[in-house]
Order: sequence, then C-alpha cells, then structure tokens
Amino acid sequence: MSDGNVPEGEVPAREGTPSAGPGTVVGFFYDLYDGSGEKIESRRDGPPVLMLFGEPSILAALQDAFRGKHAGEDFSITIPHGQAYGRRYPDRSQRISRKQFEGGKTRRFRLGEVINFREQNRRKSATVTKVGKFHIDVDMNHPLAGIDLTFDVTVEQVRPATADEMAHGHAHGPGGHQH
Ligand SMILES: [Zn+2]
Repeated sequence: MSDGNVPEGEVPAREGTPSAGPGTVVGFFYDLYDGSGEKIESRRDGPPVLMLFGEPSILAALQDAFRGKHAGEDFSITIPHGQAYGRRYPDRSQRISRKQFEGGKTRRFRLGEVINFREQNRRKSATVTKVGKFHIDVDMNHPLAGIDLTFDVTVEQVRPATADEMAHGHAHGPGGHQH
C-alpha cells in the first residue's frame, strides 16, 4: 500500500473541520415533512438551530444522523413515529377547567391551538379540540404523535462545545451565555 492512499470506504478527514459527534455543537437548518410529504415546519430563515450533540431535547434518531457530518453537508432522514413522538392514542381526550389557566375564564382558546399547562407539577402540552364556557377539551397526544417525520437538513456549522455548554447540557448562541 502506498502512502497517502485512503482505505476503500473511508472518507478522508477534512483537516480543520470537525465532524459532528459527542463534544461538538452543531448548527443546522431544516424542513420537516410528514409521511405524505406535506411540509409541517421550516427552519431555513434566521439563525440556525443550535444543538449540543447528545442533548435530550432533540430526537435521538435525528442526532444519530448527524454523526460524522461536516459543515456544508445536506442529508435527509425519515424517522418512523415509533422512534419520534410515538403512536397516537384515540382515547387521550381530557376535559380541563378554565380555572386551571391564568386568565383562563376570559381567555380565547382556538381550536387546534397547542397549549402548555401544569398537572401534578409536570409540564404538559395538548391540542385544543373543543372550547366551552367553563371547560376546554384537549387531545393529550403530542402534536406530532403518529406521524412519520422526514427531516431535510443542511449542516451550517460544527464546532467544539465550550466548557460552559458541556456543563449546562445545551448549546449557547453567539455571544455565549444568554440565560
Ligand atoms: Zn447554558
């Protein structure tokens, strides 16, 4: 074997550009599609989404797809709902008293609105399905439950995480600590 040959199947390391993995922060843009190809969400305008590799708030299956990627790369990944937000249960409807919300007696709830509330000291989110005078009905399924998700991703940056970011368990935007 002569010097300088890259073994078959291995991508030559790009000097100076770190690849995504533990200990890095990845900035990315994405479009999100459901199983029928309809666009659910787009994050292409404005600053990139920043992720500390391994942080729990981002789907593990999506993070796995970033492993080894460099700035400037594009990729697509389809994540079955079982590895995303789980199945949709037909019987997770719940009636909540308006009193449970701050200003809830006069608040205008919209059908389809995703609301956040506390129950037994846990944060929950739900989708409004019916609005009544004293109660609202909500669907407790996660809004993306039962949906196979396809992410169209552009990697914008990969950089080593700072000590602060590692200690906090999340990425910091430009200018560092913002909270
Ligand atoms: Zn922090």
